[in-house]
Amino acid sequence: MSRRPYRLGRSLTGLGLFATRPIKKKSRIAEYTGRRLGIDAALKAEKSGNRYLYEVNSKITIDGARHGNIARYFNHSCNPNCDTFIRDKRVFIRTLRNIKPDEELTYDYGRDYLKNVIGLENCMCSRCRKRRKKVAAEARLKRARKKARLAFKSVKKKTRVSRGRVKAKGRK
Ligand SMILES: [Zn+2]
Repeated sequence: MSRRPYRLGRSLTGLGLFATRPIKKKSRIAEYTGRRLGIDAALKAEKSGNRYLYEVNSKITIDGARHGNIARYFNHSCNPNCDTFIRDKRVFIRTLRNIKPDEELTYDYGRDYLKNVIGLENCMCSRCRKRRKKVAAEARLKRARKKARLAFKSVKKKTRVSRGRVKAKGRK
């Protein structure tokens, strides 16, 4: 078996996986491994705060919390370059497009996880950060425009007042 084409490294949210060489689109690069839990055990694990549960189907959930499961280090992204697929009740991760070295490998954890575990406003994926940056920049621009408008108004006011004074003086 060839060595993994990625390494564990620091990401914005802790640890993540980063490509160490170009990876072709649709390459199967990992399996999400771990204990297989039934419904009750899965619910119990979820309640105890286990964030590494992968629901294979309505009866089987994989507990991927142990460190031997390299797939637990794929971070979530709303604009991912990988996705997961299930074959024979096993979960695999594959690339969605060609990957360049040093790119972080991510897949979409799904809307429920984003909403309930990460929080819609806490997502640190590149798309969400870009979106928040844009919103913040627009708000800044709006404030700057408002400030400029107010400054302009006060300049106009001052000009008018001084003109009035000049006129008044002239009349004397
Ligand atoms: Zn996001």
